[in-house]
Amino acid sequence: MSTILSLIQHDLNIMCKECNKNILLKAGEIKFYLNKGFNLPKRCKSCRKKRKQKQNR
Ligand SMILES: [Zn+2]
Repeated sequence: MSTILSLIQHDLNIMCKECNKNILLKAGEIKFYLNKGFNLPKRCKSCRKKRKQKQNR
């Protein structure tokens, strides 16, 4: 577990699945997701927000 976390020292550029916008994932954010056991996000913040709002309804 600690080995994979120590590998992440750089920011990561990913593309939003919904709007194809470039998202910059900071190394700290990646660590946060992995620490929590989450998958890395595939959508930008605004698309995630939209999805969340849909799910709440
Ligand atoms: Zn998006």
